[in-house]
Amino acid sequence: MTQSIFAADALLPTGWARNVLIEWDNAGHITGVRAIGDVPAPAGVTRAIGPLLPGMPNLHSHAFQRGFAGLTEFRGPGNGAQDSFWSWRELMYRFALRLDPAQMEAIATWLYAEMLEAGYTGVCEFQYVHHAPDGMPYADDAAMSHALLAAARNTGIGLTLLPVLYQTSGFGALPPTEGQRRFIRSTESMLRLLDTLHPVCVAQGARLGLAPHSLRAVPPDALREALAGLDAIDNTAPIHIHIAEQTREVDDCIAWSGQRPVAWLLDHAPVNARWCLVHATHMSPGEYLRAGKSGAVAGLCPTTEANLGDGLFDFSAWRAAGGVWGIGSDSHATVNAAEELMLLEYGQRLLTRRRNVAPATRDDAHPQTATELTLGAVQGGAQASGRETRGIAPGQQADFVVLDANHCALAGLEAPDMLSAHIFASHRTSAIDSVWVNGRPRVQGGRHALHNEAKAAFVAARSQLLASPNP
Ligand code: ZN
Repeated sequence: MTQSIFAADALLPTGWARNVLIEWDNAGHITGVRAIGDVPAPAGVTRAIGPLLPGMPNLHSHAFQRGFAGLTEFRGPGNGAQDSFWSWRELMYRFALRLDPAQMEAIATWLYAEMLEAGYTGVCEFQYVHHAPDGMPYADDAAMSHALLAAARNTGIGLTLLPVLYQTSGFGALPPTEGQRRFIRSTESMLRLLDTLHPVCVAQGARLGLAPHSLRAVPPDALREALAGLDAIDNTAPIHIHIAEQTREVDDCIAWSGQRPVAWLLDHAPVNARWCLVHATHMSPGEYLRAGKSGAVAGLCPTTEANLGDGLFDFSAWRAAGGVWGIGSDSHATVNAAEELMLLEYGQRLLTRRRNVAPATRDDAHPQTATELTLGAVQGGAQASGRETRGIAPGQQADFVVLDANHCALAGLEAPDMLSAHIFASHRTSAIDSVWVNGRPRVQGGRHALHNEAKAAFVAARSQLLASPNP
């Protein structure tokens, strides 16, 4: 049976269109996108109450970190001038050491409901807490991954599950620290985990990929073997890696190899369109050029990168090289697709002392900054997720977001200006009315069906975690 929605304004991959009828099949794949002109919408068809946008893929998430978002915003004793990513990481380790699978599921279920309410229709989960608090595998070795799969099922968000390979604490195969014991896997154990998870993901409609954590956490041989093993399971599966997030990481990589991390990776791994380079923040002009041309997606997480004081990505250089990009909420200091796009653009404005930077970085760009940012992030996010979520076009999933045309920031405006107002003039309340994933409404009237229940379980899990002693 075909299902459909009519939108007076819809943002298609080519730009804005008027009076569009979108149809999809029982599997949730779009079968038709037609401008029907001034003909009234067919009787019985749902009408979008405002502009209809493509659903936004969230290309980088560590779900459990939502549990301590907001709790590292103080200057600790003794770390004054040094307060940095590395002091944040110490608190993250303490939190990660206490977490159990039920708490992981509670936190992720609430987080994914929040994501849906904020316009994300899919998430790439970079999952590195594998083992029990003592560092030994759970009886079900995939317990933590199953918790994330359950959270995605509960909420209806699209999932790309990326189990993380983590073996060393620094370049040159430094042994892992005690605080990293829940993350560590041999390459063989990782490949067994992927084998176990592959059919489970297929059955749920999720995509399975692999995340070598970073060059500091995965030695070259392990990287090569893990990629070969992944190819044997699925030679189109996505591959995500943290790369060049911090200047110290760049310095350490140079000390180890004589090369910067992105340059090293491009010379030693088959980087192509399957890859997502997360936080490729610190690149030389030559790296921007080479990585941009490789087809890999730049995984940008503007609010987390700002929160952690990482530095600014050179968006203009990346796009001048033809680079693909998308956005992620990463540590979940903020869970809001519009705010990620706003901060991405604002960072570039501060860097270049110009306005409307995103459209100026491509000759064929849409002149409206919000339109250009939204379409770019959907394309790159879909590529990174390895799922058919490239926007409102036949063959893609029916993932979309409907804005409330009556919201105070939007009322009375033309559709492209409504999207601009949603991103740049939100009045601090969401203008999102409904969110659909695979043709099913998951958010209506701005609320996910599990909103209250999932929030209560999240608050309880966070309280438990904060009250439990250090293991
Ligand atoms: Zn990350």
